[in-house]
Amino acid sequence: MRILLISPYELGRQPFSLAHPAALLRACGHSVVLADLTLRSMPWETLAQFDLIGIALGMHTATRIAISLLPRMRTKAPAARLVCYGLYGPPNAETLKNYGVDEVLGPEFESELLGLLAHPETPAGVSARVRFVVPDRAGLPALSGYAHLILPGGARKTVGFVEASRGCKYLCRHCPIVPVYEGRFRAVPPEVVIADAAQQIAQGATHLSFGDPDFLNGPTHALRILKAVHENWPTVTFDATVKISHILAYEDLMPRLSKYGCLFLTSAAESFDDRVLGLLDKGHTAQDIARAVHITRASGIALTPTFVPFTPWTTLETYLELLIRVRDLALISSITPIQLVIRLLVPEGSYLFRIPGFRERVGGFSGEMLGYPWTHTDPRVDALQNQAQRWVEKSEAEGRGRFETFSGLWSLAHESLGREAPALTGEQAGPTSPHLSEPWYCCAEPTAAQLAGCAVGG
Ligand code: SF4
Repeated sequence: MRILLISPYELGRQPFSLAHPAALLRACGHSVVLADLTLRSMPWETLAQFDLIGIALGMHTATRIAISLLPRMRTKAPAARLVCYGLYGPPNAETLKNYGVDEVLGPEFESELLGLLAHPETPAGVSARVRFVVPDRAGLPALSGYAHLILPGGARKTVGFVEASRGCKYLCRHCPIVPVYEGRFRAVPPEVVIADAAQQIAQGATHLSFGDPDFLNGPTHALRILKAVHENWPTVTFDATVKISHILAYEDLMPRLSKYGCLFLTSAAESFDDRVLGLLDKGHTAQDIARAVHITRASGIALTPTFVPFTPWTTLETYLELLIRVRDLALISSITPIQLVIRLLVPEGSYLFRIPGFRERVGGFSGEMLGYPWTHTDPRVDALQNQAQRWVEKSEAEGRGRFETFSGLWSLAHESLGREAPALTGEQAGPTSPHLSEPWYCCAEPTAAQLAGCAVGG
């Protein structure tokens, strides 16, 4: 069968979500073409040649982009079976089907996809776990075309993207993983991860970015992989995502992570407001975030926190407090500015609805934004978020640095309270941390440019 697998967006990384099913499908004798729309145009003119078109929906932005493309895809390939798969498939199944999608599969989609191909006349059935195999990355653009690592001095490294686990054992209420995995996670066998790392290192990767929702959900598993990679390729560095409470719980592991080449850890700090952290069930406090910064720095690892600063519980005061904490912890240069303007997304099935009174604070589901819109009870907070977001987008478009962009937010936050903003000093910016060149965050809304770029492609 002729199969096209499409990735609309995966944070500028070479998509595992195409390479892994490609390996399984090719092993079954299918002809598989891969289209990563972040680097290649949609093959509109050949779309009708495919029997099945699969679209990987691993994140919100990918789903928004897919929806903008689906009407034209359905017209161009009326006979193809359109299948969406990934984390954002099941919560948006109804919307996707309204756009002409035939089957919607979840993040553990591989066996269902194979089942669909073996029995094309039957609808998708219950998902069963498939054995992980080494991803087949043939047909994807070279790693050098993807997001690269930028070191503090400006040097660049080619990045390989690996996954050592899926799902997460925690139940943070705002997290899109939770309604689908419900506190479960699944390890990818170490030999598969190491072989995938090896093939990307052979393609020029000198840094590995682990895409696991939380790399220390299985610390023994993670260390086994890191040890093997380090023994084979001692100069290869890595980054991973680790929750704040894991940094505290596994403080003694940080020197080993550093020894194995860890340059930075991304951590979903979300807020410095303990009330909000409690509502989100994050399992950490503002004080824990500060401790995590010190623990990682003590081991020579940079911490790059991510935030959801604008929630229905944010006030003008707590937003300013967040910026003050960022300044006081010398984190300004460690944070991607977009992180300081993100607005809480409420997807279908969100555990946020378990917060008493939350449902009354949001509107009805919007198929356009793929979530439940909400407005703040204090319109000044929404106005600040809007201004702040426009400032960050303008800053990025005009190439401003993190310190300058932060200074603009600092002024806006003070102005919103009618206060004069104290001057910021370069020292407060803190050390510039290594970071990936792709600044967007998976739960943020796509930009107009992202949507337009894919829609006109080809
Ligand atoms: S936010 Fe992080 S720790 Fe919490 S459930 Fe999601 S992946 Fe797990």
